[in-house]
Amino acid sequence: MASLPTAVRSTAPKIARSALQRRAISDVHITRTGKPLVRTQGGRSSLGEHTATVFGATGQLGRYIVNRLARQGCTVIVPYREEMAKRHLKLTGDLGRVVFTEFDLRNTQSIEESVRHSDVVYNLIGRNYPTKNFSLEDVHIEGAERIAEAVAKYDVDRFIHVSSYNANPDSTSEFFATKGYAERVVREIFPETTIVRPAPMFGFEDKLLLKLASVTNLFTANNMQERYWPVHVIDVGEALEKMLFDDNTASQTFELYGPRNYSTAEIAELVDREIYKKRRHINVPKAILKPTAGLLNRVLWWDIMSADEVEREFIDQVIDPSAKTFKDLGMEPSDISKWTYHYLKGFRSSTFYDLPPATEKEMREEKKYIHVLD
Ligand code: NDP
Repeated sequence: MASLPTAVRSTAPKIARSALQRRAISDVHITRTGKPLVRTQGGRSSLGEHTATVFGATGQLGRYIVNRLARQGCTVIVPYREEMAKRHLKLTGDLGRVVFTEFDLRNTQSIEESVRHSDVVYNLIGRNYPTKNFSLEDVHIEGAERIAEAVAKYDVDRFIHVSSYNANPDSTSEFFATKGYAERVVREIFPETTIVRPAPMFGFEDKLLLKLASVTNLFTANNMQERYWPVHVIDVGEALEKMLFDDNTASQTFELYGPRNYSTAEIAELVDREIYKKRRHINVPKAILKPTAGLLNRVLWWDIMSADEVEREFIDQVIDPSAKTFKDLGMEPSDISKWTYHYLKGFRSSTFYDLPPATEKEMREEKKYIHVLD
């Protein structure tokens, strides 16, 4: 470069840069099944590289992956069963990018119609409790099996199946056992399946922080002593996106968990401090609470508590050392204590005047002075 004339030296980097830009725009990526995909610069109105089907997109985690894909121009197929439950997802992408299709977990044809145009399928379907029409086995095992079969039939490039922490066919919890069994079934049908086991997730729509902050979380059976590594739902969404763009994650198992281990009692303490209220918790012996929860789950048509959730209170999260983690995706998960203010400020009484803290230090200091206005 030093021996080049000045005029050439000044244009050389420009040529190199524009050549790079051109290459990125016209980059053709050949998938495992030989389909050509055009790599674009991305952006909401660009023609995105992938067509993805996201089963279970109407749940807590669903929006964080649909949003990530749709905002870079990918076409996202959202199989749904309830008109109103999927409305918010339409806005995540440009016009025509988020495509809704009605499906039923027992209707193989509807599942096949949902996956056959896609090059990646995410299965986020899961239920915490059995319902009138679907047992945990129906949802976690048979549902996952039908989806995996459709994925194999249409030779979809990638299948990313969301399981659960502690997934183990021998678990005393039906939820963990069915999730563990489903992992085996999907791997048998489609060996390239990427299995993702998230820890209990926290976020705006979670069943952790919001439950502890609300008055309905009254009864527990294990004095809130179960321990786990809570994970931020946005981190899990980002990890799911990274897996799509890295084909090395095919056939791998990922355990996604936060940086610190907490008991539910410790999180409840964080929650109480944040909302300036003391929530009551009553401990009931397991022998009484488990059958009562089972009965309530059968007779009430809204979710309060199920027998299996009581059982899970007695099972701590165990990390599988052979599974990959956030680190293998180049990510640093964030800790729940950094997010309690963000997610729980709405639970504070309006009689307290709180300026939003700018830094963590200020946040600690601010809590020393609570200004009562009226
Ligand atoms: P949600 O309970 O919020 O959402 C579950 C999704 O599954 C919804 O879209 C729901 O659809 C769908 N679904 C459930 N049953 C059926 C059925 N019978 N037929 C069709 N669709 C069904 O789950 P999350 O988003 O919180 O979790 C995503 C995945 O991660 C799940 O598999 C869950 O088991 C797993 N997981 C979650 C944890 C957490 O802390 N949240 C912890 C560990 C694992 P609809 O809206 O129509 O009901």
